Amino acid sequence: MSYYLLHNSISWTAFFKPLPRFIPTHSRFSDRKQCRVWYRSYCKNRNNQGMENVVQFDGAQVVVGDPQLLQAKISSIRLEGPSKLQVIADFDATLTKYWIDGQRGHSSHGLLQQGNPEYDLKRQKLYDHYHPLEIDPKIPLDEKAKLMEEWWGKTHALLIEGGLNYGAIKSSVANSRIAFREGVIELFEFLERSNVPVLIFSAGLADIIEEVLRQKLHRSFKNVKIVSNRMVFDQNGDLVSFKGKTIHVLNKNEHAIDMAGPVHDDLGDPNELTDDASSVKLRTNVLLLGDHIGDLGMSDGLNYNTKISVGFLNDNIESSIDSYRSAFDVVYMNDASMWGVVKLASQLCSNVG
Ligand SMILES: [Mg+2]
Repeated sequence: MSYYLLHNSISWTAFFKPLPRFIPTHSRFSDRKQCRVWYRSYCKNRNNQGMENVVQFDGAQVVVGDPQLLQAKISSIRLEGPSKLQVIADFDATLTKYWIDGQRGHSSHGLLQQGNPEYDLKRQKLYDHYHPLEIDPKIPLDEKAKLMEEWWGKTHALLIEGGLNYGAIKSSVANSRIAFREGVIELFEFLERSNVPVLIFSAGLADIIEEVLRQKLHRSFKNVKIVSNRMVFDQNGDLVSFKGKTIHVLNKNEHAIDMAGPVHDDLGDPNELTDDASSVKLRTNVLLLGDHIGDLGMSDGLNYNTKISVGFLNDNIESSIDSYRSAFDVVYMNDASMWGVVKLASQLCSNVG
């Protein structure tokens, strides 16, 4: 029996029953002792008040702030059916693992070795200058958006000036520390069978993400579209320009669909995806996956009816859990697998009645 069918009939309200006590099941995550320690103190400090919505699932903790609201959203989306559903996902540390062999996994941007150390260093210097500005809460959003555009523009210019060849992308991905969460392939396969589109929004580089999909998943999905910065290469495979407008951390949302370049031919049927892009706004129910609260903005530009948001809280759990629990409908901690989302997606697409 498939995983989805096995869990189809379980309601999330029933699923999130109170736990009698916290039992750590982190045997698979031996480097995550800190989480265990934190969680014990969290429960103790709150006199077990924080326990009511926490369950163990596949070796990770799951928190649902409002199980009744979640169940109501699930029912509403099920009622309207898969033809009204779309999935919006962030890429780095959402579809990919945060930790790999005890080390931070690479981001799609961070893995790139241009094949030109001088320019790799120049891009690192830009990061050192602009990243603190990106995370500075005191800078107003409009001002920050300008700074981000400036950063992305300079980085893209360095990639062209420093002579990036597509071969460097291939070898960078091959040598990178990047891996998808367990269950991502199964999630994509299930959504493909259910004719539910997946939009992957990233402020990184579409060509790198596509190469990661090729090398790590070894297959393509006709329902998956990457909305990100897309490069133009000449016949020698040298980068000559970028297509469309710059997509950075503060504008990666449904407004960006029209700005992004089309997907490469070998990652599915481009015509089909073009249709998807134009009709995707008619899909007014959303399952959103992200690892930052800012990722909730990915559905901006879409007039949705019902949105279920799933957050992956990978780090700084103690200081972030309260804000994540308020912001997301479901929060997975400890670099969880995608199996819980597979189950949720199968519930959303199951027949009513
Ligand atoms: Mg991310």
